[in-house]
Amino acid sequence: MARMMADCRRFPSVSNCSLTIIGEEEEVVRAAAEHAASVHEHEDTTELREQIRATLEPEEAYVFGARAPETGAPA
Ligand SMILES: [Zn+2]
Repeated sequence: MARMMADCRRFPSVSNCSLTIIGEEEEVVRAAAEHAASVHEHEDTTELREQIRATLEPEEAYVFGARAPETGAPA
């Protein structure tokens, strides 16, 4: 099964978070939701997890080093 990636670098944040989470989809959705709650002060809800799931990329999209935030993307 292909692994998926949640990349905080894509989204503007107060802390300029650089975290990238890669794993199987369910692992990434869970870890990213817990991270969003603990670091980005989101509420860990079903809606948040669905939003995270919608932004996942295949792990092949990983880029080393810095990555510019995308404008207009959900924070
Ligand atoms: Zn983050």
